[in-house]
Amino acid sequence: MRTHTSALYSAPWVLPITSPAIRNGAVAVKDGRIEAVGPVAEIRTEFGGRELIKCQGVLMPALVNAHIHLELSHLTAIRRPAAGQKMCDWIEDLIRARGNCKLTTEERERYRQQALQDQHRSGVILLADIGNEPYPSIPDLPDFPLVLHFREFLAPTILATEAAKTALEGLPDSVAATPHAPYSTSPELIRVLKKRARRLGQVISLHVAESASEIEFLRSTTGSFRDFLERRGAWDATFLPGGNDLDGTVMYLQQLGVLDSKTLCVHCVHITENEMYLLVEKDAHVCLCPGSNRFLRVGKAPVESMLRHGLLPGLGTDSIASNKTLDLWREMRIIREEYPEVDPGEILGMATLGGAAALQCEDDFGSLSPRRRAIFLELYSEEFDRIASGKELLDILTRKGRPQSVSWIGCR
Ligand SMILES: [Zn+2]
Repeated sequence: MRTHTSALYSAPWVLPITSPAIRNGAVAVKDGRIEAVGPVAEIRTEFGGRELIKCQGVLMPALVNAHIHLELSHLTAIRRPAAGQKMCDWIEDLIRARGNCKLTTEERERYRQQALQDQHRSGVILLADIGNEPYPSIPDLPDFPLVLHFREFLAPTILATEAAKTALEGLPDSVAATPHAPYSTSPELIRVLKKRARRLGQVISLHVAESASEIEFLRSTTGSFRDFLERRGAWDATFLPGGNDLDGTVMYLQQLGVLDSKTLCVHCVHITENEMYLLVEKDAHVCLCPGSNRFLRVGKAPVESMLRHGLLPGLGTDSIASNKTLDLWREMRIIREEYPEVDPGEILGMATLGGAAALQCEDDFGSLSPRRRAIFLELYSEEFDRIASGKELLDILTRKGRPQSVSWIGCR
């Protein structure tokens, strides 16, 4: 990582995200923050006396992985559901694999650290990590991404809800707590968790509208999730049917009073136009996980509609238990493949600014703009030398996966 407290970085291309790509651009930094971004000639005039560091390729903001489960990093062999199988079948495989795991805590920790290192190598600066196991401390290494950890709670019965509330009382305020999903967490516990998060100024991040079965469950408490809870002896009267008028999970969360700017709805595969209006009205955030959705065969999120409504989702890899790899460059590529009408600039925006905003960190990360932290990426692939336009650059970055070289520039 290149580190200078005060410098100018120039490159053939600078991609601020919040404004169009700049050919022959430069970024001025001082004391760990970005001061200015623009054409190199202008920046050199303004900051003339400062050392100029010439970079290759492209300068752009670091990526934000807005949804991952690092504690599942050792579960690399969970099979993809066959066509026609339900998401619950995969959940049962996951529970079984976690229960049967013979690895020691240290061995599992090594998988987690490897996953973190790979996130760093791919250019991720910040990640939202969801887990329900006691969490070992993250080593404070400059090369690691910043980890926002969420302790996940689920409680499908009245008894489990009471136990979770007791556990929450013992949780330090510094630990963010979040519900798992509306089919696994009682409405009461979702409300309690949101109330705690509001008191502490924290985000809640929960799985929302991931499968069609979830919507059926919330409307009528029937279907594969009901069967699943009954099989596990975890069904009582704590979930009440929302009725056929219920659009889906987002509306359900609105009825619970938990939608606001610090509510991050992960997946949102099965949401309606009404619910998109609701998300915009409440300033709530969305994180897409297209690789996981493809792996689990749960459908495709209505990405074009979300963008038309003015929502800029973040992007997440989810865990290796439900994805082929944990690589945001691949997630961008999947969006290009599945939504050819979506502008590549918006896809890069999802992987940077969308995630930073969802995690309430856009003042630090997500764009190359003044006052953001001066830690960003220098990307290089041979084909960058032949790029003729900003449009072509955005096309390559979103269509080809991880560039040949991803290196860091920063003042951490
Ligand atoms: Zn997840």
